[in-house]
Amino acid sequence: MQNSCFRLVTGVLLATAGAVALPAMAADQAADKPAGVWDLTDLYPTPEAWTAARDHVAAEVPKIDAYRGKLGESAAQLRAAMDFITGLQKETARLGVYAGLKADEDMRDPTASERRQVQQQLGVELNRATSFLTPEILSLGNDRVLSYLAKDPGLGQYRFTIEEMLRQRPHTLGAEAEKVLSTSGLIGGAPGNIYNVLTNADIPWPTVKLSDGTEAKLDAAGYTKYRAVPNRDDRKRVFDAFFGTYKTYERTLGASLAGKVNSDLFYARSRNYPGTLAAALDPNGIPESVYHELLKEVNETLPTLQRYFKLRGRMLGVDQMHYYDIYPPMVKLEKTFTVDEGKRLTLEAVAPLGPDYVAKLREGFAARWMHAYPQTGKRSGAYMNGSAYDVHPYVLMNFTGDYESVSTIAHEWGHAMHSRLANAAQPYPDAGYTIFTAEIASVVNEVLLLENMLKEAKTDEERLYYLGTALENMRATYYRQAMFAEFELAIHEIVEKGGALSGERLTRLYGDLLKRYHGDAEGVLKIDDLYAVEWAYIPHFYRGYYVYQYATSMAAANQFADRILAHEPGAVDTYLGVLKAGGSKQPYQLVKDAGVDLASPAPYLSVAHRMNSIMDQMEAILAKQKG
Ligand SMILES: [Zn+2]
Repeated sequence: MQNSCFRLVTGVLLATAGAVALPAMAADQAADKPAGVWDLTDLYPTPEAWTAARDHVAAEVPKIDAYRGKLGESAAQLRAAMDFITGLQKETARLGVYAGLKADEDMRDPTASERRQVQQQLGVELNRATSFLTPEILSLGNDRVLSYLAKDPGLGQYRFTIEEMLRQRPHTLGAEAEKVLSTSGLIGGAPGNIYNVLTNADIPWPTVKLSDGTEAKLDAAGYTKYRAVPNRDDRKRVFDAFFGTYKTYERTLGASLAGKVNSDLFYARSRNYPGTLAAALDPNGIPESVYHELLKEVNETLPTLQRYFKLRGRMLGVDQMHYYDIYPPMVKLEKTFTVDEGKRLTLEAVAPLGPDYVAKLREGFAARWMHAYPQTGKRSGAYMNGSAYDVHPYVLMNFTGDYESVSTIAHEWGHAMHSRLANAAQPYPDAGYTIFTAEIASVVNEVLLLENMLKEAKTDEERLYYLGTALENMRATYYRQAMFAEFELAIHEIVEKGGALSGERLTRLYGDLLKRYHGDAEGVLKIDDLYAVEWAYIPHFYRGYYVYQYATSMAAANQFADRILAHEPGAVDTYLGVLKAGGSKQPYQLVKDAGVDLASPAPYLSVAHRMNSIMDQMEAILAKQKG
């Protein structure tokens, strides 16, 4: 399981545009070990050692076949097969971490890119070699499998994996049908591939001239950059040109998204699920009520979101907010930070999580687990990769010295600590956690960082900046993702009921949602009709029912953070218990057992409550400044 995360910032993957000068390196670092560059020798001492390990695994994979047809002979035989396969999976994951990190250091490096492809090929071969496992275990019958589990303690580390296989029996088909479905994967991926090629390569993105003479090329990166410019007319020009271009391709992009939704329905029906939502949620044991509860609570707390738009309008000095007024910062912060300051601020912030957490994080910061600064050819954005089970997590960042960079340290190292705690506490098969719980550890750290920044801040302007940043982050990660989730559910339901989707219909549906969420009818924020084609800009719709997990993670994180900050007895241990549990339980149940029920209103109300509390603080500062 890949424990890596791409951080969502204002609704898109964090991207750093262009080359940025490297901050000065610490003087005590030897020249051959530059500060801020990760040490991959912890994975493999040399590239040659990687190749040797890869060749070894490749030679072992065909031996898996010797277990085929023999799993039912005895508990010991089943255990031998599971041990052998799991060992190869673990080493393949480690090979993948090295290959991936190496390739991301410099995406132009052909050797690194080839290494990554070789590793991916190995992963495909391993999957193919193990594809008999689930059908054969199911064919043994629940009684025999459960008796093996009871008899052989060596099978204990596979209990959850095997019980989950048995649970999904009604949705696992016969060998013939499974083979057809697995072959159809390439067809099912076609709409997403078409979308990527069209939007990244074929659509001629426009260039607009801004009021200061800048020629702004509006591809995806240009749009995220220029939509936040201070001049309002410029922002409108950027929105009109960018979404005007999407509008030109509305029909094609609509056909492509409709293809994706139809493919989701095909798989749901083939696997005997009542609908596409169940097909997406049930494999991880997440009840549909979680999804519906999220949408219900978000809709009931829309006045909180709209209060933010009113406050934002007031701070920007805008009488009638429009959709293009969401991205410019409400307050400017000239202050810059070093990586070391970012680490210090994060360490101070997580003190409420206890001395052990702080000590482990300090240890990670002191080691060379992070590639911190931008460099030519390096992958943009930020992520954590915790898949090298026997080693340690790695973090990739593009630290530029702004506050966003500091908060990304807190965020990504939240993931890193999650993986470190889970890998230490769980056997390999149970260590990897799902996306459903992944963003909890990162968001809790962000909430704690905000508290620390407010304490550290020297001026009210600075305080306003941190509060405003947190508020915008909650809009983008919670309300916006929930709105996407509502749209996804609506378009799938149309197709499930036999209806058809066109680009024009998608725009109409999306526009209605945009207007409702942003209070268009109430005059809070006006949505110009052209921007209702925004659905065409969101690549996540090609990963069906994925984005809701950003919102549910944020809700869970807020409720955990509330309890930790209120010093509720046991709150810290319970929370750390969730991290240490990794993937040893179904994720919804794991979080629920820790007292946060995502099928109930409480976690969602905690997000709205924090947003209101942040706005109370901001309005108090503004009132003081006025008076
Ligand atoms: Zn994340």
